[in-house]
Amino acid sequence: MSESPIWHPFTQHGLGEPIPKVARAEGAVLHTEDGAQVIDAISSWWVTTHGHSHPRLAAAIAEQASRLDQIIFAGWTHQPAEELATGLRAMMPPGLTRVFFSDSGSTSVEVALKMALGYWRNRGEPRERIVVMDNGYHGDTIGTMSVGARGAFNRAYEPLLFDVTSIPFPQAGAEQATLDALERACAGGAAAFIVEPLVLGAGGMLVYDAGTLAEMRRICAAHGTLFIADEVMTGWGRTGTLLACEQAGIEPDILCLSKGLTGGAVPLAVTIASEPIFEAHCSSDRARMFFHSSSYTANPIACAAANANLAIWRAEPVAERIAALAARQDERLAELARHPAVRQPRQMGTIAAFDVGEADGYLSGLAPRMLAMFRERDVLLRPLGNTVYVMPPYCITAAQLDRVYAVIGEVLDAVTG
Ligand SMILES: *Cc1c(COP(=O)(O)O)cnc(C)c1O
Repeated sequence: MSESPIWHPFTQHGLGEPIPKVARAEGAVLHTEDGAQVIDAISSWWVTTHGHSHPRLAAAIAEQASRLDQIIFAGWTHQPAEELATGLRAMMPPGLTRVFFSDSGSTSVEVALKMALGYWRNRGEPRERIVVMDNGYHGDTIGTMSVGARGAFNRAYEPLLFDVTSIPFPQAGAEQATLDALERACAGGAAAFIVEPLVLGAGGMLVYDAGTLAEMRRICAAHGTLFIADEVMTGWGRTGTLLACEQAGIEPDILCLSKGLTGGAVPLAVTIASEPIFEAHCSSDRARMFFHSSSYTANPIACAAANANLAIWRAEPVAERIAALAARQDERLAELARHPAVRQPRQMGTIAAFDVGEADGYLSGLAPRMLAMFRERDVLLRPLGNTVYVMPPYCITAAQLDRVYAVIGEVLDAVTG
């Protein structure tokens, strides 16, 4: 174990926990080198939508790799990127007209924040304040940590994080407090409000209602505060609709997408902006251009995978699969909710979550214990502190999902019995 030179993400190597080696994956199943078949109940950290090694995605990647692998994207373009941008424009809310490429969810958020500040500066009315929601998560870079919840994850970096205005999470029954706080923040001249629509993922799979989302959007519009929807996790059908914003009937000013953009096969992200944000940067003055790029911006192989993902959405019954999975999650969660250890069961589309026992945060001892027990039973689940959630690829079979819930039941008995 300690012979590997690899330093893993979000891993305490000092605990010497086993790190299984995965040889291949298909559908919702991971095959490890030692022969185990593990059900991937968290879509390999929320990215795999249609299932692992989907033939359409694999073929598109192979074909593109042998045609055009990589090309500078400043001042150059290529067919897979053009096709993808056009395809996204057709699929996404009509007001979102300009597609900016990058390569991870964090980067798509960094780009959104830079676009928002650039918009205000180029208009000659600098606004700098960003408004965020308590318990939000937008990535692990310095900028995205600044707009995310402060806690154990980022305590060491706190001195580097910039100051933001935070509004409370809209607890059921207390939504007005959230709306009032947003109103006050926007009235003070905020540049932008960034939020995860309907589900706060890493913050503990906290769900809130579409009416509150619509109201938050209205408040921002009334004050000119740009509304940034971080749909990096919620996008691509996770909440039951292509975008979570759809359920509130809203269009953001800026939309961040990544995880499921390529069906989860290769890294890619987009930040899609409305025309006024592009316009504010468009000029004969070079000083007003949008100063952002990364080496692999719009990598052709990644774009080809994303085009294959769009083709899957168009050609396969994805919406039906999502609806069937959502219905099954609903049934299984309702049964599990009878277990005395289950608190606050909640579900949004393909995502089901609940809390176990008393809340004591991400570093609670319960999470690693449960994680180990899930691993022993060949199910990949990774509790967030005391929150257990199930977020499988849409292709998971009924039998596989039933197995996941049976294992959760066993583990709950073991940790609470
Ligand atoms: C995962 C996530 C990110 C960060 O994406 P990375 O690809 O891990 O950088 C940003 N926002 C949300 C809502 C996420 O769930």
